Amino acid sequence: MSDSPSYGFDTLQIHAGARPDPATGARQVPIYQTTAYVFRDADHAAALFNLQEVGYIYSRLTNPTVAALQERVATLEGGVGAVCCSSGHAAQIMALFPLMQPGCNVVVSTRLYGGSITQFSQTIKRFGWSATFVDFDDLAAVEAAIDADTRAVFCESIANPGGYITDLDAVAKIADAAGLPLIVDNTSATAYLCKPIEHGATLVVNSMTKYLTGNGTVTGGVVVDSGNFDWSASDKFPSLSQPEPAYHGLKFHETFGALAFTLHGIAIGLRDLGMTLNPQAAHYTLLGIETLSLRMQRHVENAEAIAKWLEQDPRVEAVTYAGLSSSPYFHRVAKICPKGAGALLTVSLKAGYDACMKLVSELNLFSHVANLGDTRSLVIHSASTTHRQLTPEQQTAAQAGPNVLRLSIGTEDVNDLIADLDQALTKSTG
Ligand SMILES: *Cc1c(COP(=O)(O)O)cnc(C)c1O
Repeated sequence: MSDSPSYGFDTLQIHAGARPDPATGARQVPIYQTTAYVFRDADHAAALFNLQEVGYIYSRLTNPTVAALQERVATLEGGVGAVCCSSGHAAQIMALFPLMQPGCNVVVSTRLYGGSITQFSQTIKRFGWSATFVDFDDLAAVEAAIDADTRAVFCESIANPGGYITDLDAVAKIADAAGLPLIVDNTSATAYLCKPIEHGATLVVNSMTKYLTGNGTVTGGVVVDSGNFDWSASDKFPSLSQPEPAYHGLKFHETFGALAFTLHGIAIGLRDLGMTLNPQAAHYTLLGIETLSLRMQRHVENAEAIAKWLEQDPRVEAVTYAGLSSSPYFHRVAKICPKGAGALLTVSLKAGYDACMKLVSELNLFSHVANLGDTRSLVIHSASTTHRQLTPEQQTAAQAGPNVLRLSIGTEDVNDLIADLDQALTKSTG
């Protein structure tokens, strides 16, 4: 399919990036389970290695199944290119890698997936990078946190564990004024609910492990480039604007224009960091994305009903879900994610930590797992699991306090889910 921007989301999620297999006519994208590709001749091989011709060399860099997925996600997000990676966390490193050098920092929202907080506050220090965490509702603080060594601004659209929506337009304006790219993690929203690029994001990362695959079978991630950022406007991004020593002095921005970031990600990022998505995983994710909009509609419908039911229950202290009219972020739904506030919510119980621990074992339909965005409904007690490594202050900022449960609402019959929550609440708080 030649990707016509006139096709709607429901069409693109099935067709973008997929064409009948040129060798066999296979209608579904085949799993190209191969490590290497035979060069036509020595000149062809040299042209591929010189990035003068697009083609396949070695599956750490490129693979036809993965390429179909890259094109599909880039199309759905409204970007010019994408690089698939072995996980969402890999995608976050791959997004920062071309931008950062030792001594550089990234300004990051305090409201992030727990694993991202650890990755940014601890692990990236090993590369000589650092993160400055700020409350992204305090726009003056975001502005003040940017200094001469800042190379990016990072936040989530709908923030995990739910209930918070970033004012992407306002943050993008600040990043833009500082000459910096805004990177948005769109995992909890997906391109169906939110289009960060339309709100000024330069790069979008997704953990495809979650809603994009949708059935809990794969770990994968992706970085999508909007193609909108001028990497040569300042001297801040020499890997893209200056001769790149890791690729015999190639100037990526001058040579590839809007595709500079994507080709740097493949030619250097995947080549040297090796965080490559395998073709099997790409295939499962392609299958999942075919039904993304249908699933997201049901996820949102169910989450809205459950949030409302929990909110009126006397055993419940509070529910954070931006789709509730009582939420302080309700007014951002129409602007940032008009098709709904996602399907993640947190619920805090009046009965506290022990009741939360009991509730997760009393639930029958909800699985107690460290995952989200599955067709199955999932629950986790963040304070004793995913957010355990964080300080109490970080836990509270991330909505992962001792009496808080995170729910990832699946696509089951909503009455069954409510009945399951009701019986488990009775057993754990009675
Ligand atoms: C899961 C998740 C990640 C990390 O993705 P993995 O595929 O598990 O590495 C990053 N951000 C958000 C919002 C997530 O939910």
